[in-house]
Amino acid sequence: MNLILLGPPGAGKGTQAQRLQQARGLVQLSTGDMLRAAVAAGSEIGKRADAVMKRGELVSDEIVVGIIEDRIGQPDCAKGFILDGFPRTTAQAEALDAMLARKGMKLDAVIEMVVDDAQMVDRITGRYTCAKCGAGYHDTNKRPKKSGVCDVCGGTQFTRRADDKAETVKARLDAYHRQTAPLLPYYRARGVLQQVDGMAEIDQVSAQIDKLLDRLK
Ligand code: AMP
Repeated sequence: MNLILLGPPGAGKGTQAQRLQQARGLVQLSTGDMLRAAVAAGSEIGKRADAVMKRGELVSDEIVVGIIEDRIGQPDCAKGFILDGFPRTTAQAEALDAMLARKGMKLDAVIEMVVDDAQMVDRITGRYTCAKCGAGYHDTNKRPKKSGVCDVCGGTQFTRRADDKAETVKARLDAYHRQTAPLLPYYRARGVLQQVDGMAEIDQVSAQIDKLLDRLK
């Protein structure tokens, strides 16, 4: 099963993609994670993407399409994947259609996580992760049970994304509305768009996604 999770920054795409990866054995393909890894590694792509990401803008279609094309061709993706943060422009969606057609693959569903934009700034600026295991937390909504200690691995170091600052979040939300929201009618016209309430509790969002995926089987 091949899926896209669509929604603005902070909608919970990464959280739900990780859950789908664990529950259904699908591979999470997050272009944001891949680009952050490239920046951390200091690769050529990382150098080109770094400043753009810090401004909250989108990196070029050419870079992300190349990254996804390489990754989708790897054997583990044959059992199914979840695209998280890709495509983000109509050109990326068209490139994805073409690459899937070439590989004889298809999209089963595009799931829009419908959220209240006004609440995304709080969601994003409050989030942080355990530096050791990557477990996600939030200043107000999801604190570790013991302050300063990761519930999952006991780690005591936490990190925040460089682009989760309030100034940058606004640019990222603008980029979503200008460049990514047009993908909703694009996929609706192709009959694959589904919606879930992204403002519900995390478990309830997962339950909504499960229900619609079970219907697709
Ligand atoms: P994310 O982790 O999905 O919020 O992405 C973080 C940042 O990486 C974005 O603000 C963009 O600068 C860049 N990025 C991630 N995915 C894409 C994409 N599909 N197209 C362009 N830029 C992207």
